[in-house]
Amino acid sequence: MDYKEHIAIVEDWPKEGVQFKDITPLMDNGPAFKAAVDEIVEYAKDKEIDIVVGPEARGFIVGCPVSYALEIGFAPVRKEGKLPRDTIKVDYGLEYGKDVLTIHKDAIKPGQRVLIIDDLLATGGTIEATIDLVEQLGGEVAGCAFLIELTYLDGRSKLNNHDVLTLMQY
Ligand code: 5GP
Repeated sequence: MDYKEHIAIVEDWPKEGVQFKDITPLMDNGPAFKAAVDEIVEYAKDKEIDIVVGPEARGFIVGCPVSYALEIGFAPVRKEGKLPRDTIKVDYGLEYGKDVLTIHKDAIKPGQRVLIIDDLLATGGTIEATIDLVEQLGGEVAGCAFLIELTYLDGRSKLNNHDVLTLMQY
């Protein structure tokens, strides 16, 4: 499957100098979206994953269908102030700005094997912060999966030795 034909490249968005990779055409295309989700499910199948964790908002879009197919739960990672119960938080830097990510304290039980999913790996700041949250709760990161990797930003270097799947590289 040539996923790249379903990615729209938007120049200078959300700010000048950024070349945004828009995944909504992929989401619009049923067979392409299913193939991408199925590929991540296949990657996860032999990893004995207990729970999928995804950062807002596009991590939900890719992560939830994977958790559904694997018949396991999904735990959201969100910006500060969005989750209603007790959370832990971590500061992080991203490709264009700084922010805080949070997760519910009871989202992951110690020892659970976690698959982290997001749409895109850029500098790796978001995924590094998500790994930090999972590990603070005693979870074990069994793998990380993304639709897109911007290899020129070298986000992989922030993932240490964690196992990574990316379906497209730019
Ligand atoms: P990082 O933290 O790796 O620098 O940036 C990745 C995060 O920012 C992801 O959560 C992703 O959704 C968002 N992001 C950054 N650049 C892009 C882009 O070009 N396209 C999309 N779809 N998301 C992006």
